[in-house]
Order: sequence, then C-alpha cells, then structure tokens
Amino acid sequence: MTWKKDRRDVVKLLLAGGLSLYIPACQSSNRKKEAEGKAPRKKDSGSEIEEALHSNNVTFLQKADEQFNELNQGFNLAVGKIPALIALCANTEGVAEAIGFARKQGLKVAVKSGGHSFENFSSINDGMQINLSLMNEVRWIDEKTVKIQPSCTLREMYDAILPKGRMIPAGSCGGVGVGGITLGGGYGFFARKFGLTCDLVSEATFVDGNGKTHHVKKGDDLMWALKGGGNGNFGVVTDFTFKTFPAPDSFTRHRFKAYKLDKIRTKELLQTYFKYSKNLPESCFAAFVLNYKTLVLLITNYGPRNEALDDMIDTFSALCDDASIGEPKNLAVSLKNYYGIEYPIYFKNASAGYYENYETIASSIDQVLDIVFRKRGLIYQINTLGGNINNPEFEKESCYPHRSSPYLSELQYYWDEKKDPTALLKSFDEIQNILYENGIRKQYRNYPSLGFKDWEKAYFGDGNERLQQIKRKYDPENIFEHEQSVRLG
Ligand SMILES: Cc1cc2nc3c(=O)[nH]c(=O)nc-3n(C[C@H](O)[C@H](O)[C@H](O)COP(=O)(O)OP(=O)(O)OC[C@H]3O[C@@H](n4cnc5c(N)ncnc54)[C@H](O)[C@@H]3O)c2cc1C
Repeated sequence: MTWKKDRRDVVKLLLAGGLSLYIPACQSSNRKKEAEGKAPRKKDSGSEIEEALHSNNVTFLQKADEQFNELNQGFNLAVGKIPALIALCANTEGVAEAIGFARKQGLKVAVKSGGHSFENFSSINDGMQINLSLMNEVRWIDEKTVKIQPSCTLREMYDAILPKGRMIPAGSCGGVGVGGITLGGGYGFFARKFGLTCDLVSEATFVDGNGKTHHVKKGDDLMWALKGGGNGNFGVVTDFTFKTFPAPDSFTRHRFKAYKLDKIRTKELLQTYFKYSKNLPESCFAAFVLNYKTLVLLITNYGPRNEALDDMIDTFSALCDDASIGEPKNLAVSLKNYYGIEYPIYFKNASAGYYENYETIASSIDQVLDIVFRKRGLIYQINTLGGNINNPEFEKESCYPHRSSPYLSELQYYWDEKKDPTALLKSFDEIQNILYENGIRKQYRNYPSLGFKDWEKAYFGDGNERLQQIKRKYDPENIFEHEQSVRLG
C-alpha cells in the first residue's frame, strides 16, 4: 500500500489546531481489501513456519514478505517497531493458533487492530504481531445489538450503523480501530450522554495468553478488565457485542477563534471555558484548543439548544475574534467532516491529565503557557467529559477509573519528515513534568506516553492490583507485553 502524502494536509492540520477529535489524521480503511489480496503463503519446503502450521485461519509473514511492512505500519511514523513475525488472522481460531505458535517459539505478542496507538504498542520488536486487519466485520444480532470485530474502523462502524438509525458513542477519527478505542475506554461527541464506548459492550470473545477462548459476559472479571484496561495486556478480543442507541437526527457545530493571544487573555478565556462548559447539556461536547497563540474553541450539540449553551455561545462570541455559529445538519454527513486524512504521520500525542476545574491547573498554567507560546507547534487541548460517563453503574462494571473528572486534557505535536522534532519534543517533556510536579497525575489509557511516571497508577488508579490478578490468571507467562502492559506483579 502506498499512502499518498501531501504536505499541505499536514500544514492544514497544524493550522486548524491539529485536533485529534475534530481534525484528525487517519489511516486508510482499505486495509482489509489490501490484506485480502494476499493468498496464504506457500513457503519453500523446510520452512519452520510451514512445518509448524497448516491453517486457513492464520497466515504468517516474515520481513522479506510482500505486505509485511504495510501490515506492520502503524499510524504514528515516529515510533517504528519490527516484529519477527506477523500473524495475519482470519478468525478467532487463527488468533488461538497464532498464540500457540508464539508460545512454542518463545515470542512475545503485540496486537494490532486499527494501528492508532500513540506509542505504537500494536507492534513489537522481534516478537509476533497478531494482525487483525481481516477481522473488521459488523454483524447485527437484532435491531438494537451489533457484533463488531476489532479492526473495524470508526468510519466503517458509523457507515454500518448510522443508516439503520443507530449509534455507539465513540471517537471521531475515521481510522481508529474499534478494538483499541473500546479496550481503553473511548470518548467523543456522544459520551457525555451515552457513556464511553466500552460502556456499551455487553459481550466479547477473548483469546487469552494460553490460547484459550472465552465468551466474556457482564459480571465476569474479564469484562471489567476489558472496559478500560484491555489494550494488549492479557489476550486478544476477537469480537465485541455492543448495545446501540437511537442515533440523533442532527449535529451542530459552533466554532470560535481568538488570535495573537497573550498569557493574561488566554487565562481569562480558559477560566471562562471552565465556568460555562460545566453547565452544558449532555448532548454537547466542547474542546479548548490552544495552538501556539491561537485558540480554537469548539462546541458541538445534537440536542435542543438551552440556556446554558446559549450563554456559552454569547459569551465566547463577545470574547473571541471570530465566531461561527452553526445550524443543525445531518449527523452522518457532519461526522464525516471529522474523519480526517488517510495516511500515517509523524506526531507525538499524549494525555495531559484529567481536570476537575480551573483550580486543577491554576498552579501550572503560567509555566505551561510559557512553553506553548515559546515556539509554534505544541497544541494544548482540554475536552469536556462528565455527564453519563460518571454513571455509577458504568463505574462498577469497568476498570476505567477517572469517571468523576469532567475534563481531559491532551498535548499534541505534528511534524513532517523534513523537520527535526527534538526541540519541540523536549518542550513536550517539560510540560509533562510541570503537570506531574503540580499533582496532575491521572492519565487516559488511550492517550499513552512513555514519558508518564507511575503510569500504572496514572492509567488504572486503584484498579491496577485487580488487573494484575487478572493478568496472572489469563496470561501467566506474560506473552502479551509492551512498554506499558499490565505487569504480573
Ligand atoms: C488521530 C487519532 C484520533 C483519536 N481520537 C480519539 C477519540 O476521539 N477518542 C478516544 O477515546 N480516543 C481517540 N484516539 C485514541 C485511540 O482511542 C487509541 O489510540 C486506540 O487505542 C487506537 O485503537 P486502534 O485499534 O486504532 O489501535 P491499535 O494500535 O491497533 O491498538 C491500540 C492498543 O490496543 C491494543 N489492542 C488493539 N486491538 C486489540 C484487541 N483486539 N485485543 C487486545 N488488545 C488490542 C493494542 O495492542 C494497543 O496496545 C485517537 C487516536 C488517534 C491517533
């Protein structure tokens, strides 16, 4: 596969604020077709792989094989890893066979669905990548329940369920895999009303580190673990059963911009953002995106307008240099605007903490802004959470730990291959340290960074110990391992 790169797209992304939520860059959803073009490989006689396995369920690829690089390539060009073997699995049986073969060969295993892991945890140097590209089917169980395979992208998922008038709350980038986003939580425009993506999962099929297949249901310890702590930690989910809800009819976007900001004005805008966004109805989502000295403030809505929303719109219309007040548009058409571009890029993104309100960052914001204003490139973003994400029932059933925090922040930096990212990456680290030193230590599992100290606590809070017990039960030999996978303890 060749990804058509256009430098203008990256520049557009930067100018627009580089939002992972609303102007994301996404990987092509043509992976299945490309992978399907490849017939099971006939190796030369004497091949160890050929001798070890004759199966229609999985095809093994080595470095010299055509498509090895394409299948291995993740969305982040900045983090490259080269596995010894890719196991291209066609079904659950293939995954079990691949795990059996990895165990026999003493290979560690990484799992790849949509390939959008910020730190490329879906590949592994010298180990086996279980590649699920072929497993992207969407199958209806009844008119409200749908079974989805993990490498189905969000674009494919929305394309399949919106025409039936149904919806699953998830992110907006079309190339993100259902597998990764669900197993780490999953939030976006719809989460404040309907919960995280993982909250809608009612059943799953899971192959553990021993190669054993489990049908996972509500109440199982595994189900708890897979809702927020399932990314490449102790096995492979081969399908999820989701409850769906009626899709809203329309979607409205309001956007405000403020230019040439200084610290004083930025802090005023930020305080105002916290003050007004906390009252927004659950049908709204908001993001405060500071890209160097430009603010882009986004508010989306799929419910009726109410007083709190009107107040926020009026306030930011007055405070900002530019306001674009939207009208309700067709939901499916609107979502496509956020699917993003189609090829891997160089970037560093990471969670920058969960916040309660402005007070959470009051002691660090001056230092953070000094760095963001130093040089073009860093994007500091604060998104709304809250609402039904904080549902006690969801909390009980999942290991996603940070439900009570109504805001999630993230840092982003995009560059093209001609640029040396060293200085900006250093600034990125500086901000992470400032936040940590100021007590901002809760982080989103799906926005990982190797730079996080105490990452287990940061991602899983008090749930880490229970996750370790589950790890010991389902992957006692630690077959599934990446830099931040759950440890055996
Ligand atoms: C451009 C962009 C936009 C994004 N927007 C959002 C957003 O709006 N909301 C949000 O919540 N997140 C968002 N994310 C973060 C996203 O949720 C995570 O990167 C997610 O983990 C990606 O899933 P994936 O399947 O594409 O990636 P992969 O790289 O394939 O997988 C990510 C992790 O999950 C593991 N994994 C994947 N599939 C399985 C499986 N079947 N069984 C076990 N482990 C598995 C992998 O091993 C890896 O550790 C965004 C990311 C990007 C790059």
